[in-house]
Amino acid sequence: MMLGAYDGRNGKSADVFRRQDEAWRRAYAAATRLHERFPKLELLVIDLAFIDVRGMGRFSPQMRSFSGSAKAFFAIACPRTLCLDGGFDLDPVVLAMLSTEPTTSNGTLECRGWMDPTRAENTRCLLRMHYRLDARYNTPQASIVKRRT
Ligand SMILES: [Zn+2]
Repeated sequence: MMLGAYDGRNGKSADVFRRQDEAWRRAYAAATRLHERFPKLELLVIDLAFIDVRGMGRFSPQMRSFSGSAKAFFAIACPRTLCLDGGFDLDPVVLAMLSTEPTTSNGTLECRGWMDPTRAENTRCLLRMHYRLDARYNTPQASIVKRRT
């Protein structure tokens, strides 16, 4: 399907999307930095792939990496242009992963947004996002402390 089919960000609907963008910007601004929130985490790489069960669009895979002073903000906007109140929150996934400290974690989330302002159940976005998280943890300081003899 041509990209032009999604070009509906004009007229009345533009307000709704502007508010949505604004809410994301505020949430991002409020997020703390990675090294403050997760001191043990050195690097987190998130690979994302999208599967449209409705077959309406194709969406490029995304890769995001977080380290040091990056914002610990793990909400992913839905790539479907006209999706309302959609998106994927990886924050609980990241928290669960860091509580047990495996180096990888993967799974699938489904977008619960709507493709129509009427928000009828049959207009749910339902875009699936497959994620893979790869984490690198800081090596414990003890290992580099010189031993006194
Ligand atoms: Zn969506």
